[in-house]
Amino acid sequence: MAVSPVQLLRVDMSRMSVESEPLPEAWTLLGGRALSSRILLEECDATCDPLGPENLLIFAGGVLGGTAAPTSGRLSVGAKSPLTGGIKEANAGGNPAQHLARLGYRAIVVSGQPADPDARFGLEVDEQGARLVAADELKGLWTYATCERLAELYSKQASFICCGPAGELRLGGASVACTDQESRHPTRHAGRGGMGAVMGAKGLKFVAVEPGKTRLRRAAQHEEFLALGKKFGRAYRDGPQPFAKGTVVGVQFANVIHSLPTRNRIAGQSSHVDTLDGNLIYESLAERGGGMHNCLTGCVVQCSNVVHDAEGNYKTSALEFETLALLGANCDVEHWDDVADLDRLCDELGLDTIETGAAIAILMEAGRMKWGDVDSMKALFYEIAEGSELGRAIGGGAVATGRYTGHHRVPAVKGQAIPAWDPRPLKATGATYATSAMGADHTAGLLLETGMPVEDCAQHSQEKQIVNAICDGSGFCEFIGPTPDDIRIFYGFMIGREVSREEIADLGWQVLEDEWEFNRRAGFTVADDVLPECMLTDPVGPASDVFDLPAEVLADVKVRKPLRPELFSIKAAG
Ligand code: SF4
Repeated sequence: MAVSPVQLLRVDMSRMSVESEPLPEAWTLLGGRALSSRILLEECDATCDPLGPENLLIFAGGVLGGTAAPTSGRLSVGAKSPLTGGIKEANAGGNPAQHLARLGYRAIVVSGQPADPDARFGLEVDEQGARLVAADELKGLWTYATCERLAELYSKQASFICCGPAGELRLGGASVACTDQESRHPTRHAGRGGMGAVMGAKGLKFVAVEPGKTRLRRAAQHEEFLALGKKFGRAYRDGPQPFAKGTVVGVQFANVIHSLPTRNRIAGQSSHVDTLDGNLIYESLAERGGGMHNCLTGCVVQCSNVVHDAEGNYKTSALEFETLALLGANCDVEHWDDVADLDRLCDELGLDTIETGAAIAILMEAGRMKWGDVDSMKALFYEIAEGSELGRAIGGGAVATGRYTGHHRVPAVKGQAIPAWDPRPLKATGATYATSAMGADHTAGLLLETGMPVEDCAQHSQEKQIVNAICDGSGFCEFIGPTPDDIRIFYGFMIGREVSREEIADLGWQVLEDEWEFNRRAGFTVADDVLPECMLTDPVGPASDVFDLPAEVLADVKVRKPLRPELFSIKAAG
């Protein structure tokens, strides 16, 4: 099958067929989350069983994937979520999206389901085309072992996407893992919403992408695009570089603003803040080895850490703030070294660290496990891999664990656990959690301003959700902080015509509309745009904050307002 840019790859797991087709011209500026949400709205029955053959699983690179735009190779994974029952997109680093784009593919759309639920398959994508292959030998393998085996089968340049045992067991907390650019480790996860369970339900154990001799994609205005890319990368390097030590340094700040979830969010500050402090992790790199790196080719931010144990052996990678918060403070775990072990176990099974930490904290508050009991926590992962009743509850996420234990305090929105940043002091972030079609998700629109006036919360949440949706469609990592102006100017050089501010704002808004419409068809109503009871009644911090934004404010998030001009603010692309 010949490849000509830009293509969609259609994989039907019922018919065992693989076909490519040109990306519709109207979708030229749709990539990543924008593309997966549009395909789901147009082609997927919103009332379908998320784990059945009618659901679609979409792997989509951004519009700028595979180009010289710095830090623009994220991979979006989209589907109807088994966790929420609504639309979902989670994105990850690693090189698969870069490689797919260089081969000419904007997205892979996986439909159907194999007749034999015990069969496993892999998808190979290379310069010759794409094909399904048997992968029964990888059944039940943990993700590191899976990628070690794949590394024996494919070239050194190949990148891999896979699910772990949690995905194969179709658990709601299952993630999709991507290998990072330096090693074969499956450390970059599209964590949220159970995308790994959808992959497992499709019988798809892995995708292997061989870039071969492909080169970076060329833009229509190539020289201008390259010059812009250089300027954009330099602007980040010359700036304050807030992620130079990784996201883990957010622990102290979150603690100060009472937004470090502690003991199933009974408190917003942890007595272990100094031993969970991300600065210790950064300092350990000099003594133990490891270091900071870029998880995908072309990233200039390099926020990703490689963490070693006290003997200098590799332990895990990309130990993130959210993981320290949810598997650390929220479970009352004392030391970051233990959280690193738990992070590795989540990566090995293919589990979202946020959902899993939230689930274990519920188990602990329900009295079924001692707070901070790391050994028992580790044992839980083997229960998950074996698929025991307890393991399925934990791997199924916060709501499943609440159901299993009968515990009433379940901090989740639309079925998805609330991430670290707490909606009680951060009310505009709470507005995002309540109104995003994807449930509680900080990547949908995080605002770290405490004490924001109530009358500003709807506008700020909406704006942030639009800006993030624009970014998620481009392939840029949010950590390089592209503004809508940056992205529209890159797009303009990419396609050879000017993209206006109105057009880029419309693109972002349309993503939100597509997602809300999918959820409406799935049966969601305004009654679902709420935070759980415990966030409304249980105070946190010295101001006894509860989430108290009125329903009118939350409804107003979905009423379109113009983006304020300063939000476009050309940062690097001027
Ligand atoms: S900024 Fe961090 S998460 Fe984003 S692409 Fe770079 S290394 Fe990966």
